[in-house]
Amino acid sequence: MPSVFIKTYGCQMNERDSEQVARDLQDRGHRLVDNERDADVILLNTCSVRDMAEQKAIGKMGMLRKLRREKPKLVLGYMGCMAQRMGDDLGNRSPHVDLVVGTQKFHRVADHVEEAIRRREEAFASEDATELGGSINPIIPIVDIAAEEGSQNTIREHLPTEKKAATSFISIMQGCNMHCTFCIVPTTRGPERGRPILEIVEEARTLAGRGIKEVTLLGQIVNLYGRHEFPKMDGKSPFVQLLEALNAVERLERIRFTSPHPMGFRKDLVECFARLPKLMEHVHLPLQSGSDRILKAMHRPYTAASFRKLVAELRAARPGIAVSTDIIVGFPGETEEDYRATRDLAEEIGFDGAFVFRYSKRGDTPAAVMDGQLSEEVKEFRNQDLLAVVNASASRHLEACVGTRQQILCEGPSRNDPSRLAGRTRTNKIVIFEGGSRFHGQIFDVAITSASASTLYGDPSILGEGSETLGKR
Ligand code: SF4
Repeated sequence: MPSVFIKTYGCQMNERDSEQVARDLQDRGHRLVDNERDADVILLNTCSVRDMAEQKAIGKMGMLRKLRREKPKLVLGYMGCMAQRMGDDLGNRSPHVDLVVGTQKFHRVADHVEEAIRRREEAFASEDATELGGSINPIIPIVDIAAEEGSQNTIREHLPTEKKAATSFISIMQGCNMHCTFCIVPTTRGPERGRPILEIVEEARTLAGRGIKEVTLLGQIVNLYGRHEFPKMDGKSPFVQLLEALNAVERLERIRFTSPHPMGFRKDLVECFARLPKLMEHVHLPLQSGSDRILKAMHRPYTAASFRKLVAELRAARPGIAVSTDIIVGFPGETEEDYRATRDLAEEIGFDGAFVFRYSKRGDTPAAVMDGQLSEEVKEFRNQDLLAVVNASASRHLEACVGTRQQILCEGPSRNDPSRLAGRTRTNKIVIFEGGSRFHGQIFDVAITSASASTLYGDPSILGEGSETLGKR
């Protein structure tokens, strides 16, 4: 059967969608390969959040044209957000592609791949092979970007492709209705649609039965899950009902979620951190700006004061909870005073980590045509300045772990040094340590012996195997 290589750009949602496509293809007998040169089919799962991400994928597809010259039967396809946003135009910009499949059609990719293989085989049988590999593509590309009702319910069959994985993503919803003025997601992913709680819990049970100990719930606005479809019960939102149900799944040990919106943190969700032991002590809470004026222009319906209050409530509910964030600097109209408000708030909160983005115009969004676009110099200065602030607080949090005992889940070999192992604390910090394969997929305590700028180093032997788990700092 044909071999398939999937390259994924962008966020965890995309990673998860690629897993689903990989799984569908594997189920039909296709072989997954980790090198494009060995592949008969190459799929790029694209991201539209920034122009740069789109340009990268288009550039990559351009380079793959050379490979097509060597392998005229090679099938090339785009899927995901950029495919959804550009549709036929993408086929025009990359006329050698065979597939353009949008975000509501991941479950159809395997069908489309097989159809594209068939078309290419047929053309190969009737055409000059050099023409097939040349600049004119005799194959009519398959473009499938239509909205499909219920497509959020088709994503349950995704299971981790990595055999020894101890963690897994679960996609619980698709789309977003918030329309932040800098963001293309509502266009590429469509309106919010949640999967039924029972289906998600069943998926978690299946994963736990296969040895998965930690799940991360995914959604563009994950903590507002189900608000349009499912009723509140006993004052609890559908998301809180889901967390409670997952907390009761046997053998599942850890629950995380990303990315939430600050306005989705009502009292019922904050309280979950005080009472659901499997909910990990980490919240990724996108701030975006510390200036109320800029938050309004971004169409983010909270203020610096309400964000500060929320962080305090979370820290009171679960002492030691880690809080990370996303911040955009250089949004149109951001004055020095606005930027200072962001910087001051970041310093005051002392995030455990932050992704700092320089604002860049994203076509088809309101912010792209706003007055007051800033120069690259100003954006770069603020970017570097804020990075220094958030890196300092992240380092302080890491340093504070040295000398403590932390519960970790070992995820396997370290990416940077495969001779050592990597695990994740409950607060989502990476710990590197020496050890053998018996640690893979296990939850245990390590003594934290040192910290670098972004990583902790630990030693399980200091505590002895099977030591009692404290799990919190
Ligand atoms: S809430 Fe998130 S996904 Fe939705 S529009 Fe805003 S930034 Fe984009």
